Amino acid sequence: MNVAMNDTTCCPSCGEPGKPILEIPEVFNGHRFSLHACDSCELIYTYPFPSDALLRDIYSGEYWTREKTTQKQGAIGGLVNWFNEIRLAATVKPLLQRLPSGASILEVGCGSGQLAKYLKRKGYGVEVTDISREILEEIRASSGILGYCGSLEEISFPHQYNGIIFNNVLEHLPNPLSALEKANHLLTAQGLIFIEVPNIAGLQFRLLRESWYHLAIPAHLFHFSLQSLQKLAQEASLDITWHSTFSIRTSAAGYVASIFPALQPTKLRQHWSKFRLLSYLFLQMSFLPLAFGEAVAGKGAVIRALCRRKPQ
Ligand SMILES: [Zn+2]
Repeated sequence: MNVAMNDTTCCPSCGEPGKPILEIPEVFNGHRFSLHACDSCELIYTYPFPSDALLRDIYSGEYWTREKTTQKQGAIGGLVNWFNEIRLAATVKPLLQRLPSGASILEVGCGSGQLAKYLKRKGYGVEVTDISREILEEIRASSGILGYCGSLEEISFPHQYNGIIFNNVLEHLPNPLSALEKANHLLTAQGLIFIEVPNIAGLQFRLLRESWYHLAIPAHLFHFSLQSLQKLAQEASLDITWHSTFSIRTSAAGYVASIFPALQPTKLRQHWSKFRLLSYLFLQMSFLPLAFGEAVAGKGAVIRALCRRKPQ
């Protein structure tokens, strides 16, 4: 059963009652939030569930500028671009190595379009969705990538895809189950869905609790563990066929951004200096062994998963 959004007494995914597990002391636009856990579907969700108006506030204005300014000039710019290219390649490597070259890929919630542009440079037939018409027009103008505006469920697509990507997107969606069900229908027979989400069952959340950068409340509506993601995938008639709890792009960055808030990506872009940028890169390198070690133990900061349609 699905309950209406903003009906905050029950789990927004399955409708069963949830219980509080963590108060968030920070106030957002005059609202306070906590984390609630659902015993039934094992999802952890942001409570109260943000209203449509608050979600509009979150995604208006500056939200999409987060990754726009990454193409920098000079030696430092070269270093940043090289670092970004490596991180993008590593992010989607498990998907790309299982797809034929030139495969068709849909990226859901493409944000700045950085990953989609990388895929296009690598020769894939990439298309994107987002809720910002403005950013889709910008991506189309700069790279020719076709974009669909709106939520995945409401868009009608003319064809299916070999790969569908939810890169740090599923946790933002009011109904992740219906999004995965739609993605299932959009997959070709041998198609694969790639998902990356923060891992609420990882060591970083245990250590950092409400200061954990990847909680991102209230923008993140759901907080997944491998177990709850597996349950959700099963509900959407998908099998998780591969997973990892390490991401070179977000694992070490989670420690740096949580412990040194001044070095969070948004703030770095607002107050850019070579010193701050080099500090950020140096700290990320320093935290990499810890981030990698916790992932070896299955307790990494993110869940990266590949899913395919369950056999009929
Ligand atoms: Zn539930």
